[in-house]
Amino acid sequence: MHSPLFSLEVFPPKRTSPVGTIYDTLDGLQGLDPDFISVTYGTGRSSDRTLTARIAHTVSEYGIPCVAHLTAQYLNKDDVDQALDMFDEAKVSGVLALRGDRVEGAEPAGVFEHASDLAAYIREERPNLKIYGACYPEKHPQSATLEDDIDNLKKKVDAGVTHLISQLFYDNEDFLRFLDKVRAVGIEIPIEAGIMPVMNAKSVRRMAGICQSRVPEKLEVMLDKWGGDNAVLKEAGIAYASEQISDLVARGVDGVHLYTMNHPCVSRRIWSNVKPFFV
Ligand code: FAD
Repeated sequence: MHSPLFSLEVFPPKRTSPVGTIYDTLDGLQGLDPDFISVTYGTGRSSDRTLTARIAHTVSEYGIPCVAHLTAQYLNKDDVDQALDMFDEAKVSGVLALRGDRVEGAEPAGVFEHASDLAAYIREERPNLKIYGACYPEKHPQSATLEDDIDNLKKKVDAGVTHLISQLFYDNEDFLRFLDKVRAVGIEIPIEAGIMPVMNAKSVRRMAGICQSRVPEKLEVMLDKWGGDNAVLKEAGIAYASEQISDLVARGVDGVHLYTMNHPCVSRRIWSNVKPFFV
């Protein structure tokens, strides 16, 4: 039996922060020894691909395999080729092929309508590149039902995705139910569970709203009791994420993808709690 995968996600510093702050984040993640670190991508401006590629290069220089995200609905083939060339130079071990969210007022390029279109293109053009994809345990907000969403997920896998990373969720039962349904339609590739630690009540409400993730009763109680005190809620959030992860690993998931939110101290605390289970 393989030990479960453990991976981390970082994002390029916001425009208001110096780009060098990513070094502090990566320094802070030293020693966690993840299977890979993934680097997010913006909405498709050319600066996004440079930034993601630069950070991916730094991750590779730390000796950690790196997966670069790429959102393609606003890109044409030349843009994608350019991004893939940059990722190649950054020595990425894979690309997370995404459609991306709609930006109000911006017209999609019409070339990569779904993530599956990008996956098929990468498979054709860069057959040696590993292709990752996103999945949604509580369905993508644009899908009418979870079953519809899983049918589309199957298209993404058939197009060349060989590894899935899930959207955040706060109740393991939702993820395990999703896994059963996905396996039932014949999707057999590894699926990592996406865990986002709770750090403040406002951001949980915001993320739960955007992702349409259910906030279970026991998390509601935590938010009610400690939502007004970020320091205490952060401690409770570390305990909550650690418990989610140990339960998922005990129940045999393929792996866990931790959304670090560029807070290495929180990731380190969680990792020190759950490390014994990753054997
Ligand atoms: P798709 O897989 O294309 O799915 C979008 C919708 O279209 C779904 O309803 C799906 O059921 C439907 N669909 C998919 N394929 C088909 C098809 N062939 N035919 C008909 N319908 C179809 N966003 C960023 O901007 N940058 C990031 O770096 C980023 N990283 C992410 C990482 C993870 C792990 C996850 C889970 C999400 C990430 N996102 C990121 C958010 C993502 O861009 C949004 O959720 C976006 O709305 C959907 O992208 P997708 O690639 O999953 O789309």
